[in-house]
Amino acid sequence: MKQDKRGKKNKDNDVVNPLDILDMMAEELSAKRRAGRKSKQAQQHGGKENPRPQGAEPKPRHGRAVFITGTDTGVGKTIVAGVLGLLLQKKGIDVGIMKPVQCGGDDAEMLQQLLDIKDELADIRPFQAKSALSPHVAFRRERIRFQPKDVLEKYHTLKQKHDMTLVEGAGGLLVPIEEKYLMADLIRALDIEVIVVARLGLGTINHTLLTIRQAEEKGLRVKGIIFSESAPHPRGLPEKTNPPTISRIAHVPVLGIIPYLGPEPLKDIKEQVVDKCRRVINLRCVWGAQPEGQKGPWENWDKKYIWHPFTQMKDWKQEEPLVIQKARGAYLEDVSGQKYLDGVSSLWVNVHGHGHPLIDQAIKTQINQLSHSTLLGLSHKPSISLAKKLVEISSAGLDKVFFSDNGSTAVEIAVKMAYQYWQNKGQTKKTLMAHLSHSYHGDTCGSVSIGGIDLFHKVYQKLVFQTLEIEFPDFYRAPEGKQYPDYTEECLTRMESILKRRRHEIAALVIEPLVQGAGGMIVWPEGVLKRIRELCYRSRILLIADEVATGFGRTGKMFACEHEGVSPDFLCLAKGLTGGYLPLAATLTSQKIFDGFCFDYADQKTFFHGHTYTGNPLCCAAALANLSVFEQEQTLQKLQPKIKYLEKALQKFSDLLHVGDVRQKGFMAGIELVRDKRSKKAYDWKEKVGIRVCQWARTQGVILRPLGHVIVLMPPLSISRSEMDRILEVTYEAIVRVTGRRPSPRRR
Ligand code: PMP
Repeated sequence: MKQDKRGKKNKDNDVVNPLDILDMMAEELSAKRRAGRKSKQAQQHGGKENPRPQGAEPKPRHGRAVFITGTDTGVGKTIVAGVLGLLLQKKGIDVGIMKPVQCGGDDAEMLQQLLDIKDELADIRPFQAKSALSPHVAFRRERIRFQPKDVLEKYHTLKQKHDMTLVEGAGGLLVPIEEKYLMADLIRALDIEVIVVARLGLGTINHTLLTIRQAEEKGLRVKGIIFSESAPHPRGLPEKTNPPTISRIAHVPVLGIIPYLGPEPLKDIKEQVVDKCRRVINLRCVWGAQPEGQKGPWENWDKKYIWHPFTQMKDWKQEEPLVIQKARGAYLEDVSGQKYLDGVSSLWVNVHGHGHPLIDQAIKTQINQLSHSTLLGLSHKPSISLAKKLVEISSAGLDKVFFSDNGSTAVEIAVKMAYQYWQNKGQTKKTLMAHLSHSYHGDTCGSVSIGGIDLFHKVYQKLVFQTLEIEFPDFYRAPEGKQYPDYTEECLTRMESILKRRRHEIAALVIEPLVQGAGGMIVWPEGVLKRIRELCYRSRILLIADEVATGFGRTGKMFACEHEGVSPDFLCLAKGLTGGYLPLAATLTSQKIFDGFCFDYADQKTFFHGHTYTGNPLCCAAALANLSVFEQEQTLQKLQPKIKYLEKALQKFSDLLHVGDVRQKGFMAGIELVRDKRSKKAYDWKEKVGIRVCQWARTQGVILRPLGHVIVLMPPLSISRSEMDRILEVTYEAIVRVTGRRPSPRRR
């Protein structure tokens, strides 16, 4: 427990006097500035900062910002902006202001003068019309062409310059800036929290609740409400009861009630304003519940209650958990407001960026209709539409869709179907599942049975069913005495003979087409997939293509099988199916397989399998929206130049002394780190080289997750070039720092 300056006890989640908090904030800011100066001096003197953790440079800190909107025009937005500005300044906080759209009046000028802001007016209010009209009318009359990107640029500049930028809207959330571009759209593009200003008095409940509801509908985050008193009347029951009523109904806190401040301009009564308002505004919440860098309760509760997947929890105890609270586009944001580029698409799932308005909206619309109803014995529209769509976009020969809820089950269902298909047909000896070495198909016992990664799978050996593992190249290290491409050919020939010889036993071969993901981003050379398809066909062995990782554009086409015109007997989909929003999986198969289950009920040949949330309507709605974004935004077309760009940018990694191999297929890339490049000798796993690279990248605001010593790059397909550049730059530097050496001078 910390002692504050006044000797009072202060726990993270105690309710504290806002003024104490502001003192802490001011201290925190001056400490930040001192640290900044120290680091500059250290750089000037060629000295080194003590890294945190290992080798980290000080984080680039961005200022905070809040958007001030109103329930109506004239409810006191500018007064609230002015008051907040004065109170924050009083605490030593550097305040910036912005009024992106101003129609009539001089709010921006007034705030600039009041707060003595030095920024140019053209930056503070980039779009200004003289007429006091709705912006879409005023701009059209005055031939002003509104450009959201100009607002965004100026906003980001101001935000970086100041500790807190107060952005004031015009009118309310649904005010059109252009015919089809509302104030709410601008707020969403700015990715900023909102304070709703409401009039204090009778009749305010409806307006305020409607505004908050609309903000939520539009995906905006409402920080709180500030009420503003517009006349010097004595406060009656409505003034007293409305704020708590609204707060209770909307689940949004009241951040303050500003009393009537009189007719004088605020700039003439600054001291009185501060005096009257400092005890009635909760500046702590305006600033943000958890100031940057300050540890909150979440990290502790995480350690206390959560068992994390694929994580050695003993190590986790020493780590500082990163608690994510929101995400937009290619960025994740933690509870302290720090942003991170999502370099692995939140475990290979995100496609069009976080918080995509169409997918958000589709889920919300579906919630209003139906959140869940079972597919066991009933059906619903979203699952029907999605099944139809999946059949349309997948290769010819895939006609039926069986839903489940994750990648492991999608594969396990295919395995069970393939097995039972032969049983139903009376070919009862065809029970064996074949898979490739380095394969990964999930973590349930069925999918572990067909896994080929010792580290993950060996321990469960006695728990899982017997399968046939077929040796398959990793296309980087051929066994001693062998060489590529001869070794690839040798493996395929061996596979052919095994499949032929054991065709009476083998029910199906399970593969990850083109890229074996978790096995280390192993990319197959062209033609291998097609050969495997032919081999299975000839031996009457069913082919299960696990496209859980490769599906939905990852390899540059909608499905990896398309690259070689392959149609499998089963196609397993999950991860990107919902754009990375909700858990949903699908196993597609042919009419032939389906017919192999259609018998009389008494024959007991039904496929007895079904998860409770199979084909959940919300998930299906997200998946349908995901697929329409592919069409509307021409995601796959736009991806092609980005793939080439990534390919070019990855070239320089190969020059690094400890980079053994760089592999890429579309937007899936793996950089394998080795102790010795010439002999391809791997690092000892105990050195945790991959983990350390990712830890360093995190200190620079980039989230990566390794596969052993392979650094995976798998950003959302929607990522911009500059965001991609940042990920690549940080990854390169991280590898250099951790593996310790720069490229050889000859090649640099
Ligand atoms: N198959 C493949 C190819 C995968 O990459 C994964 C997950 N990484 C799975 C199956 C399992 O998916 P889930 O984690 O959703 O069960």
